[in-house]
Amino acid sequence: MVARLREAGIEDERVLAVMAKLPRHWFLDEAFQDRAYSDDALPIGFGQTLSQPYVVARMTELVLGGNSLERVLEIGTGSGYQSAVLSRFCEQVYSIERIAGLASQVAARLKGLGINNVELRHGDGFSGWEEMAPFDGIVVTAAPGGIPLRVKEQLAIGGRMVVPVGSGRAQTLTLINRGFYRFDEQTIANVTFVPMRDGVR
Ligand code: SAH
Repeated sequence: MVARLREAGIEDERVLAVMAKLPRHWFLDEAFQDRAYSDDALPIGFGQTLSQPYVVARMTELVLGGNSLERVLEIGTGSGYQSAVLSRFCEQVYSIERIAGLASQVAARLKGLGINNVELRHGDGFSGWEEMAPFDGIVVTAAPGGIPLRVKEQLAIGGRMVVPVGSGRAQTLTLINRGFYRFDEQTIANVTFVPMRDGVR
């Protein structure tokens, strides 16, 4: 899997090393075990998917920007795989999931891997996580129709946010850099994520 990611253009060797060690099958149901290391998005229940390894690697590389981070916010915990990858580069990861059935599985899963710097919350990511802000990185793993402003405001100066923006298949992975005076936005690639939805369930 990692050799393919390198070929596909992932350059941060630290990200590749972490993904080489982290068991992706640990985050998937029995039925998908044999595809855990293929470069596919896979179902995790409740109509949601664990992103393709390439997309996880690329988003991680983008939010890190070559550094390690102190506090990172993830929106869309899903299986917990992206949280686990981020946990290796950050002092503390905060992750929000709107579907209770998914949110409730992740704590034990991460604990089973000895990961104890991820704080989980069942809630609506459109509000971000105000009490823990500002974040030096924010990763959004579901696609909002536009950049969620409340979340963007929780970015620290010098912080980086990665978010797939748009609806249906017309989504653009966007990198936002918060400078002292303004936010810079850069479009990275076309992507397909599940939609970011309002409210919890
Ligand atoms: N990062 C996940 C990817 C999960 S797919 C992983 O590694 O497995 C995206 C997730 O975002 C889904 O679980 C979906 O329920 C969640 N989501 C969608 N809208 C949300 C919102 N407003 N707040 C929090 N989570 C949301």
